[in-house]
Amino acid sequence: MLRSFLIVLLTLLLFCDYELVQEQFADEFGQIEAILSGEEESEEMPGAVSKVDPNKPMIALTFDDGPGKYTGQILDRLEEYDARASFFVLGICVDEYPEVVQRMQELGCEIGNHTTNHKRLTTLDTQGIVDELSQTNQRLQNVIGEEAALMRPPYGSVNEQVETCANMPLAMWSVDPMDWENQNADYIVNHVLQNAKDGDVVIMHDIYETSAQATIQLIPALIEQGYQLVTVSELAEARGVELQDGTQYFEFHK
Ligand code: ZN
Repeated sequence: MLRSFLIVLLTLLLFCDYELVQEQFADEFGQIEAILSGEEESEEMPGAVSKVDPNKPMIALTFDDGPGKYTGQILDRLEEYDARASFFVLGICVDEYPEVVQRMQELGCEIGNHTTNHKRLTTLDTQGIVDELSQTNQRLQNVIGEEAALMRPPYGSVNEQVETCANMPLAMWSVDPMDWENQNADYIVNHVLQNAKDGDVVIMHDIYETSAQATIQLIPALIEQGYQLVTVSELAEARGVELQDGTQYFEFHK
């Protein structure tokens, strides 16, 4: 009786020890793996390699009406080239692609407010404008833990009432390849390469496959020309512009 009790006790002890050793080993092994893959370093310095040089030319690529099914392709390319862009998202699309919005944030991209339902704000009353913007900000708060710092009015449609109700700076644009209309990747690429200069803000729409295809070509092409691809807020900051609520900004030329 005593002998069998001792055997059970010994077995239990051995088993517990074995588990402990296994756990310790797994911990140490995990640390070694993290060091080898540079995980710890990247956790400590997010975005440190992609700091904006204010003395070098820069362009802000911006995308409206998403996220959509092609947004991921644009994010892949941005990540590949350590570049950033601004995405003016619709509240209804944030609901559909919350993980895409989270990835935008992880990559250091800017997430702006393009209203909830893409209504022409100049046709709404004060409460309607406030609702269209605040509902999307609430969704962003839920998905990424913060509201948008900028808004872009659908159709670029603005009046004094929209400016007053915005409670955010209005991010307009200076280069428009009309990607939604022509849906022609070559045309979009040529238009942007011929027209975009230092300090410009380019508008495109990430819900069209042709716009994603164009962006995949544009990112390396613009970098090759010496441009840094930055967010609208980064561009403003680099040019010493303090963005004001209710004010429209089209470009940030020197
Ligand atoms: Zn739009």
